[in-house]
Amino acid sequence: MAAVDPGDEKNTPPMVAARRSPVTTALITSCLREELQARLVALGQPAYRASQVLHGIYRRRARDFAGLSDLPAALRAQLAAEFVFPALTLVRVLGARDTTQKFLFRLSDGQLIESVLIPASPALYGEASDRRTLCVSSQVGCAYGCKFCASGLDGWTRNLQAGEIVEQVLQAEALGGNRVDNLVFMGMGEPLANFDNLLRAIAILNDAEWGLGLGARRMTVSTSGLAPQIRQLADQPRQIRLAISLHGATDEVRSQIMPVNRKYPLAALLDACRYWRSHKKQRLTFEFILIADLNDSPAQAQALAALANELAAKVNLIPYNTVAGLPWLRPPEARCEAFLRTLRARGVAATLRREKGHDIDAACGQLRRQTMQGENGG
Ligand code: SAH
Ligand code: SF4
Repeated sequence: MAAVDPGDEKNTPPMVAARRSPVTTALITSCLREELQARLVALGQPAYRASQVLHGIYRRRARDFAGLSDLPAALRAQLAAEFVFPALTLVRVLGARDTTQKFLFRLSDGQLIESVLIPASPALYGEASDRRTLCVSSQVGCAYGCKFCASGLDGWTRNLQAGEIVEQVLQAEALGGNRVDNLVFMGMGEPLANFDNLLRAIAILNDAEWGLGLGARRMTVSTSGLAPQIRQLADQPRQIRLAISLHGATDEVRSQIMPVNRKYPLAALLDACRYWRSHKKQRLTFEFILIADLNDSPAQAQALAALANELAAKVNLIPYNTVAGLPWLRPPEARCEAFLRTLRARGVAATLRREKGHDIDAACGQLRRQTMQGENGG
């Protein structure tokens, strides 16, 4: 575990973390166009070179500086001396092209992260169906320690740089052989605890002129409920989507599995959701993992329906993926269906994920843990 508490948002004030970290500027896929421009001009290059470099990376999909073959060799040498690219190397792939594919990447400091490519996913977060959705990680590990989650089991190691988020998309598109249509920040980590890098990555992914050109409405940030950052995110202008990992419709149930609920109980979280609603056009999504005998009762379904109706939120029910070493179980199918019916009978727009490939679709964080344990001989 790190010396600072990464769960305390005061430790990562906006933009300060990005400025302080030398690696943020060194990773070329972390750069905004104006930053690259300024750096290249300082190196004696004309400003337009920045657009050419970014065009080479995000349009022509160069995989390294040598791949920017339409640029002068001297410029490529300057870039290679100043910046790092790429930041991720593929370690393992699970699954096949026409099913869910899970990629395990190694970062330059040896840390492991996962991204999951889900083809033809149903319309879960308001996007059009039949699209390729990529689930990306935002941190190495997670500080929030939800009791059901593999990502939090080993604590928090570090934030991902913006470029490490961006490169998950570049690599998944190269490996999957297709463009990614939807992006969800539902891999390892709490995206809102890595706020500056998240916003920076979204800016790069979203920019149609020099970045990847992925529509803001096609990006969904998922949070365990960091109320202040939800408000901060609502204040930024991009029309991204927000999913709240609720998993408990009362404080009593939610606090049992999500320690964050003690810091931001439902009343505070729902207040922040109301704030989001008043600033954004998109509907909110409540994610609700169904865990046997914990939150799958009719009373929880009724309480959840009331919350969803109050906030005009959609509900996405996810039968729990068992995690090795954790005691929680997925409820029987009939119980999940009954929960869904209770929501729908109360007028809630709800879906129940009936995923195939449950075995490889195992919750994010698990492939990394298996590989780490293998490498450590444990
Ligand atoms: N930290 C953020 C985003 C990453 S977790 C968040 O909590 O929202 C993405 C989603 O996966 C969350 O809804 C999380 O609760 C869910 N999840 C975690 N472990 C899971 C498991 N074992 N089975 C099903 N969903 C899980
Ligand atoms: Fe972290 Fe999200 Fe897992 Fe909770 S569910 S431990 S916030 S990654």
